[in-house]
Amino acid sequence: MAPPPPPPPNEDNSISHDSSSNDQHRPISTIVIIIAMQTEALPLVDAFQLTEDTNPLFPKGTPWVRYYGSYKALNVNIIWPGKDAVLGVDSVGTVSASLVTYAAIQALQPDLLINAGTAGGFKAKGACIGDVYVASEVAFHDRRIPIPVFDLYGVGLRRGCSTPNLVKELDFKVGKLSTGDSLDMTPQDEASILANDAVIKDMEGAAVAYVSDLLKVPVMFVKAVTDIVDGDKPTSEEFLQNLSAVTVALGKAVTQVVDYISGKSLSDL
Ligand code: SAH
Repeated sequence: MAPPPPPPPNEDNSISHDSSSNDQHRPISTIVIIIAMQTEALPLVDAFQLTEDTNPLFPKGTPWVRYYGSYKALNVNIIWPGKDAVLGVDSVGTVSASLVTYAAIQALQPDLLINAGTAGGFKAKGACIGDVYVASEVAFHDRRIPIPVFDLYGVGLRRGCSTPNLVKELDFKVGKLSTGDSLDMTPQDEASILANDAVIKDMEGAAVAYVSDLLKVPVMFVKAVTDIVDGDKPTSEEFLQNLSAVTVALGKAVTQVVDYISGKSLSDL
């Protein structure tokens, strides 16, 4: 089946979405799933039978990739920031995540954003390899600005959209997510993560939340644990060892989420 054409561009350059009660009760129709790594994205591109966009919506020269198609009456878009043009690795981290989120919202005007990916987990808080979490709140742990009020700006605490029925029915773990631009963790980061009361740690969530909040598009975070941060194994080794198995778990979880969303409104979630 031929994929549907992309929606018309946003002519007046404004975003019509806000969290007005109207939007809360309208069936969700367009979703954008932001995923940092190709290995995380491909199982979902397969599951939803999406097509890579050959006529990109994004500025020429950017490595950003959109996969799209229709799945269970939803317009599903997976946005991957692509490979770094010089180094050839996935464009992980907050800068690319916020840019693609902004560009995807402008181009597609989604009803809902989902930031899906892998994360480190804290076993002291109950996380195990392969667990899938829906993050209730996200904050940064590497933006230290010790001046009153700027300190709070640095932490950038934001909430994911409310999904009590979804997490209950699909039996996901729920916890707080802390975001920083490093895979490893300095003692200062660790103190901030503790202060954020986080159970998982990633490199994109709070950046996606910032843009979602700016443009008033609700966001959910679905994160699967690839490595235990407070364990004995070096994070990068454990991450690479578990990445492919955990992306299968992530793919399953995101498919369940999208199946659940189909035919529902935000207020049903
Ligand atoms: N060495 C990896 C680098 C990926 S960076 C590679 O082979 O390409 C890690 C990615 O997984 C980021 O997108 C981040 O969001 C997530 N992640 C997984 N475990 C993490 C952890 N312990 N801390 C921070 N981010 C983590």
